Amino acid sequence: MPVPRQRHTKSKRNRQRSHQALKALGLTKCLKCGQPILPHQVCKNCGTYKGREVLDVMKKLTKREQKKRAKELKTQEEKAQEEHEH
Ligand SMILES: [Zn+2]
Repeated sequence: MPVPRQRHTKSKRNRQRSHQALKALGLTKCLKCGQPILPHQVCKNCGTYKGREVLDVMKKLTKREQKKRAKELKTQEEKAQEEHEH
């Protein structure tokens, strides 16, 4: 294994580490439900992309869960709509 020839100074170490900070994720909001989503990706909450439905989020759920989920989505959509208007 290679061994460093000389120990780096504190200054050098700190300057190097000044570039290691994590950046915040560039999140956007879903057009339909207003949930924070990653850009260029389908919203996993309501299954839409650019306001168009591409995923059936209800498929995996039981009927009872579907009813509950539909209600949740509806309130979220209404909330998102309100925010659009303002
Ligand atoms: Zn959504």
